[in-house]
Amino acid sequence: MADAGATLARAREQGVHGFVVPATKGDDIDAAVAIAQQHDDVWAAAGFHPHEAKDCDAAAFAVVERAAGEGRVVAIGECGLDYHYMHSPRETQIAVLERHIELAKRVDKPIIIHNRESTEDMVAILERSGARGVLHSFTEGEEVAKRLIDRGFYISFSGILTFRSADALRACAKSLPHDRVLIETDTPYLAPVPFRGRDNEPAYVVKIAEQLASLWGVPLEDVASQTTSNFEALFRVQIPS
Ligand SMILES: [Zn+2]
Repeated sequence: MADAGATLARAREQGVHGFVVPATKGDDIDAAVAIAQQHDDVWAAAGFHPHEAKDCDAAAFAVVERAAGEGRVVAIGECGLDYHYMHSPRETQIAVLERHIELAKRVDKPIIIHNRESTEDMVAILERSGARGVLHSFTEGEEVAKRLIDRGFYISFSGILTFRSADALRACAKSLPHDRVLIETDTPYLAPVPFRGRDNEPAYVVKIAEQLASLWGVPLEDVASQTTSNFEALFRVQIPS
């Protein structure tokens, strides 16, 4: 968020168009919305990352509820569960996730889901949620992906898809219906090959698109137009041409 104008310009130079900038805590939301208001190809999402769940009581969540009514806020999140770091207790994380799901359904917007080492709880919660949305920086297998796709979710791949060790994830990506796949940065983390070790940024998602093109056996342009229309369908926006 610090230098959004220059970062977005570098991405557009690479042919990357249409962005969602998700907040991860109450303090981020105004900045995310401000970027979306300044750029007609950027939208925002409002939510509390599971790391911050312990700070997301009803009063803190009021900031998300207020932001959810903004036209430039097209999704609720990121939110979810993270049992790897466990910065907040499991029960708190689940309660806060449920709060986000309930809001998303109320305002009829998708949720952006973070899931790490919490897949069993996550699938159970999402399957009975009646919500729609996207699993961000997906790292699970084909079976989990397809169960969630059956419930109306999209699957988003980060730079991990290009990592040498990620054969299982590539097999999963190859098997998915193309109209349910998105690509993302998870900036500043998870820069794709050959940029590993640097701060990630949206210009680099081209590398993830190239990886998908090779897995799917289609031209890069097809991945670009497919992921663009998937983005527009999920977030119910039209990216200006
Ligand atoms: Zn995340």
